[in-house]
Amino acid sequence: MSGGTIAVVGGSIAGCAAALAAARGGADRITVFERAQAGLRDRGVGIGLHEDRFAELRDAGYLTSEMPWAPLNRRVWSVRDGDARHGRPVGEQPFPFRAYNWGSLWGELRHRVPDRVDYRSGAVITGVEPDADGVTLRLGDGHRERFDLVIGADGYRSVVRAAMYPEATASYAGYIGWRGTSPEVADLPSDGLDAHNIVFPGGHCMAYRIPDGVGGHRLNWILYTTPTGAEELHFDPRTPTSLPPGRVTARLTSSLRELVADTFPPYWAAKLLGTPVEATFVQPIYDLDVPSYTVGRTALIGDAASIARPHLGAGSVKALQDATALQAAWEEGGDWQRILDAYDTARHPIGSAMVALARRMGAAQVVNTPDWSAMEQPEFDTWWQAQNNGSDRTSGFGGHRLTGR
Ligand SMILES: Cc1cc2nc3c(=O)[nH]c(=O)nc-3n(C[C@H](O)[C@H](O)[C@H](O)COP(=O)(O)OP(=O)(O)OC[C@H]3O[C@@H](n4cnc5c(N)ncnc54)[C@H](O)[C@@H]3O)c2cc1C
Repeated sequence: MSGGTIAVVGGSIAGCAAALAAARGGADRITVFERAQAGLRDRGVGIGLHEDRFAELRDAGYLTSEMPWAPLNRRVWSVRDGDARHGRPVGEQPFPFRAYNWGSLWGELRHRVPDRVDYRSGAVITGVEPDADGVTLRLGDGHRERFDLVIGADGYRSVVRAAMYPEATASYAGYIGWRGTSPEVADLPSDGLDAHNIVFPGGHCMAYRIPDGVGGHRLNWILYTTPTGAEELHFDPRTPTSLPPGRVTARLTSSLRELVADTFPPYWAAKLLGTPVEATFVQPIYDLDVPSYTVGRTALIGDAASIARPHLGAGSVKALQDATALQAAWEEGGDWQRILDAYDTARHPIGSAMVALARRMGAAQVVNTPDWSAMEQPEFDTWWQAQNNGSDRTSGFGGHRLTGR
């Protein structure tokens, strides 16, 4: 199938990658609708990419070695131990990841979207109306446009998904990620080459160095816990996915700060508590699996298609791999049905396996945490292995291998 008019709803990581895939597949006219005005704001957070997944995506022509990144070698899990400054390591593991700043990753993908693609900022889609051989999109300004195929790359709250599966909503995992970035990186252990997981009863906090986008580095951290004082957040799937500082109640902020003061080793407590409040925000954690990535002339990609809890460190990898599979299906040829079936067959099982693995990890690492203080490396290895049991080639920490390329 070549030619055709394609709409991509959402112009973030998955949206740019989908536009690139459609252009390479041979689509005639591609329009990206992104509701954010004038370029996506740098979200200032870190994205970790497994080295092997990065190499595959670079070879597939979606990423480049030129993007600024910070290398990571090991991940050290540490528990508070009296006054020990960095706590006591309970286990460590290889961690061959590249740490990126979200903005540079998005900037690279946006740059790769060909000029002939009509990328419209400040364009919100309010309605998706499928018919037998196309889809009409309703825009916020009231006018309508019809396309041969609509790709939903519109994230957690996808309007495209809602048109395909009105009953499918993301379910709250019961805990949050409290995220922040700190400029204090000069004294990081092992020169910032390790990622650190600080563990405590009922959760953990991952911290690693990322490029700051202007030639230096920042410390990116994410603390996962079931919050107290969060009743005001109303975890309704229709609420925003991320709560900036002004939206996080004083009660929730103070309970998170108390948790850190009470359970973190002194060095890491100082790092988190010293992070400027305006550089922190709260993300409720959700997950979602849908019956299929395609229905009629609509398709889903990235977080719109499935949401795995972030413990795999592979959400962006999955979005980019979805795009490579869409491109490959397109290049294989055939009519729309054939292309969309091939895409769904290639990617839906992987999305489902990632959701399942991330649920097991969330249960072990946040909901039912072990007695970390009694743990040493052998117990840690057994605990880690138990979470990964049942993982096959379709999922794994850092994302599955991109096969067939
Ligand atoms: C706490 C946390 C940590 C993470 N850590 C990692 C990590 O280390 N490594 C990793 O690979 N991934 C990580 N991820 C996941 C990763 O951020 C996403 O999976 C990835 O960026 C794919 O996002 P996306 O493009 O599908 O969706 P999004 O980035 O959510 O983009 C959706 C876009 O659609 C637009 N949009 C939405 N609705 C409309 C509409 N109606 N009309 C027009 N536009 C619309 C939005 O404005 C937005 O720009 C993490 C996620 C979380 C929550």
